[in-house]
Amino acid sequence: MARTALVTGGSRGIGAAISKTLKAEGYTVAATYAGNDEAAANFTEETGIKTFKWNVGDYEESKAGIAKVEEELGGIDVVVANAGITRDAPFHKMTPEQWQQVIDTNLTGVFNTVHPVWPGMRERGFGRVIVISSINGQKGQFGQVNYAATKAGDLGIVKSLAQEGAAKGITANAICPGYIATEMVMAVPEKVRDMIIGQIPTGRLGEPEEIARCVAFLASDDASFINGSTISANGAQFVV
Ligand code: NDP
Repeated sequence: MARTALVTGGSRGIGAAISKTLKAEGYTVAATYAGNDEAAANFTEETGIKTFKWNVGDYEESKAGIAKVEEELGGIDVVVANAGITRDAPFHKMTPEQWQQVIDTNLTGVFNTVHPVWPGMRERGFGRVIVISSINGQKGQFGQVNYAATKAGDLGIVKSLAQEGAAKGITANAICPGYIATEMVMAVPEKVRDMIIGQIPTGRLGEPEEIARCVAFLASDDASFINGSTISANGAQFVV
């Protein structure tokens, strides 16, 4: 039987590429989103992938949403915690609201996404937890104290989950993308984009599909012994 995969923030950007790649690999995919109904409707029309709307920052909403996905599509075997936001500001100008919004979505959102699917994975003796972190969680970034804190925290989550889930057939890993050619990055002025590309030894931005293929590998049976790891996909911009 086809395995079921849940991709949060799976209807746009990197998440959309992940949803499509997993579908092409034969998974039954559920993609979630926060509020952009139009993008989600277009995505479903284009791909046939079902979308579900909830705020990953809210535990009760996540729990109810995940229960609905499992009722419609079956137990979730692969969970990809991809939904994320930025609220950038230099630290001396960062507001408590900017701090909290990013913590709620990027860090607590990972807890809220994985916690409800964890018991089912333990029961079935199989699971794949894949968290989309960031290069900036590894190295920090000017103007991103909040974002870098959450993305570094996500690495702590997967390292701990890996140790807790291993005996039950569950792996937990993270991917740290560098700059990826999503709408957000392509919308910055060409001059700034060229400056960014100048910092990437590979000489180009990454493609969303390149992150999606890392996810597909980590989700596969071939990756059973990879647990608690971080894959950096950044064109050598930051070498750990
Ligand atoms: P996008 O902004 O293109 O898409 C974000 C997705 O997350 C959207 O589907 C959005 O829903 C959803 N989302 C946002 N907030 C919430 C929430 N509170 N609850 C549920 N869903 C939510 O992001 P990217 O594709 O650029 O980024 C995806 C992930 O990759 C993020 O975690 C990001 O931090 C990480 N990343 C991205 C990099 C890049 O260069 N793009 C580099 C490194 C890491 P909706 O469509 O409704 O708005």
